[in-house]
Amino acid sequence: MFGLIGHLTSLEHAQSVANALGYPEYAHQGLDFWCAAPPQIVDYFHVTSVTGQVIEGKYVESCFLPEMLTNRRIKAAIRKILNAMALAQKNDINITALGGFSSIVFEEFNLRDNPQVRNVELEFDRFTTGNTHTAYIICRQVEQAAAKLGIDLARATVAVCGATGDIGSAVCRWLDQKTETAELLLIARNQERLTNLQAELGRGKIMELEEALPLADIIVWVASMPKGVEINPETLKKPCLIIDGGYPKNLSTKIQHPEVHILKGGIVEHTLDIDWKIMQIVSMDIPSRQMFACFAEAILLEFESWHTNFSWGRNQITIPKMEQIGTASLKHGLQPLLSW
Ligand code: NDP
Repeated sequence: MFGLIGHLTSLEHAQSVANALGYPEYAHQGLDFWCAAPPQIVDYFHVTSVTGQVIEGKYVESCFLPEMLTNRRIKAAIRKILNAMALAQKNDINITALGGFSSIVFEEFNLRDNPQVRNVELEFDRFTTGNTHTAYIICRQVEQAAAKLGIDLARATVAVCGATGDIGSAVCRWLDQKTETAELLLIARNQERLTNLQAELGRGKIMELEEALPLADIIVWVASMPKGVEINPETLKKPCLIIDGGYPKNLSTKIQHPEVHILKGGIVEHTLDIDWKIMQIVSMDIPSRQMFACFAEAILLEFESWHTNFSWGRNQITIPKMEQIGTASLKHGLQPLLSW
């Protein structure tokens, strides 16, 4: 059995889908109520691979909301993630993905130092961030979508916003070692981490967002932002490929320009047979055929019986691990989303 720990993208989103999640009494409640709400298992499903193998999974809604971070409700955020992990473990789930902000809260607030959740001692090797597969899928999206648009990576400038993060640093490593990418622009706030990444890569220009965006043929957004930013499409290169891997999305602007192509990042298309309702609730465009790459990592680990915390810690993702999960991804019929 595999598990997925997820959350909704905002209080407004949570209120709008409370009915579908099975707790209508939450629909009109504010942030305080969501801060107090316990995690719940809201979906139970089977997944059938192209190989014929069938596995079972459960979706744990943590009731975490990004507003808990922006409103400094840190204790509530921490409680949400630890309680959701304890619930997954109590349900004997072998391997559970910490989706979206779950792994970010885990890392940011050093939750590995708090393994005791009431009577449950968390076994961390039952959890994975899913970030290795997410980084792999985003890199394949860069390569394949660039080719589709006629952007030659050997002449292209790629800006990575959130470059020093777990996913961002893995994307930079892959683009550096596995592609001919001409120029890498590294964007984040903490200068020391940026300098360390630049030293590790032996390349890359550290830049502010505003100065980097107009120079980029491809922009990869993998910043941990509770709320999306607005950008002016007029300032972008044409054509420009934007891959937004944030959850919630890093971009809040609805850009409609024939030469600016926005791809949802870290999303896989699949031919798996899955009887779940949760992808509809999280507003996936084609709920029966698409899912988050981090959730897919838990599914792949269960299919392959790799019951281990495959992705763990920050900035530990290696190219061989990305290739390993990438091979499993292809084997079970997953493809990076390439349509915009
Ligand atoms: P990390 O916390 O490891 O890294 C976040 C990065 O974003 C850091 O480089 C951080 O650097 C940077 N950052 C944060 N805020 C800003 C800002 N305002 N401006 C510029 N840079 C910023 O996060 P992950 O790598 O684990 O996750 C990244 C994103 O991917 C998140 O939105 C997450 O929800 C999403 N995600 C998507 C998945 C999918 O399946 N599609 C799966 C897992 C995660 P600094 O603090 O120095 O600015």
